[in-house]
Amino acid sequence: MKASVLVSMQKIELREVEIPRLAADEVLVRISAVGVCGSDTHFYAEGHIGDMVVRESLILGHEAAGCIVDAGREVPRERIGQRVSIEPQRPCRTCVYCKRGQYNLCIDMRFYAAPPVDGAFAEYASIPADFAHPVPDTMSDEASALIEPLSVAIATCRKARITAGSRVLVAGAGPIGLLVSRVARIFGATEVIVSDPSEYRRRFALNGWATAANDPITEPSAVTSPLVDAFVDASGAPTAINQGVHAVRPGGKVVLVGMGAEEVELPVSLIQNREIELTGVFRYTDTWPLAIELAASGSVALDQLVTHRFGLDDVEAALKHAGRNPEAVKSVVIP
Ligand SMILES: [Zn+2]
Ligand SMILES: [Zn+2]
Repeated sequence: MKASVLVSMQKIELREVEIPRLAADEVLVRISAVGVCGSDTHFYAEGHIGDMVVRESLILGHEAAGCIVDAGREVPRERIGQRVSIEPQRPCRTCVYCKRGQYNLCIDMRFYAAPPVDGAFAEYASIPADFAHPVPDTMSDEASALIEPLSVAIATCRKARITAGSRVLVAGAGPIGLLVSRVARIFGATEVIVSDPSEYRRRFALNGWATAANDPITEPSAVTSPLVDAFVDASGAPTAINQGVHAVRPGGKVVLVGMGAEEVELPVSLIQNREIELTGVFRYTDTWPLAIELAASGSVALDQLVTHRFGLDDVEAALKHAGRNPEAVKSVVIP
């Protein structure tokens, strides 16, 4: 099959590689669409994310959808032909975290495009059958792929305990910030303020995603009064994180989901005095069924996020484009 392979830092080649061999519990998916994610751009540009380091050639891409074309011997044959959204992880199912139901924290996880596991910028990919979630025919291939970032947003809003009447501040109007804003409203938030320095992104956010949009540079005070119930950082920018924590009410929540600076300064006594709960989000557990419902019902307009499309032979351009252009909200690769 053809695959787009990261052969070394900042170098991608279209190569002919073996089609993945199926384990007994896996299905083979002919990939129809793959979203380009910030983490792909990071691996491409920097060769690592935290302590996950690319040492050998790697196929990137983890926001994938397609059609099942083959199945391992334990999988019912009638699954062949189903259109699916791929939950791109294979937990061990036996470690203490898997047993606790927090399989995103599995100590022996194999996750698409996290070295050394190959991802989905390819014609085919394999996945355990129960992580290939069927989607309705009304859902586009691209929306089926974007169930992955929608899942991140659902996991984030659950962590932030967003509920009826919540007021929420979201830093960063990229795909994750937009999806968090939308899901927060679905969870009952009455006010969702997104802050982003790009005017294009702020306008984009006001088209059905957030209820208000601020420029954190020219109107920083607008985002701190009155205090919010939850702050979600989807920007990874140290100033935005610091400003956001200051905007949270006593007993409120902070969830860090953005990728950027690996270390930032935090207002410790403010966090103590207000008893603010601060946490990160690492992928997701049990989000696909809800994400598919929300997309299929039209509650989340995933197709609206797609601004650019690239072929499998053009993944490098897609990664470069996504990395530096605020008007590229979501790029999708069509293998
Ligand atoms: Zn992603
Ligand atoms: Zn495990």
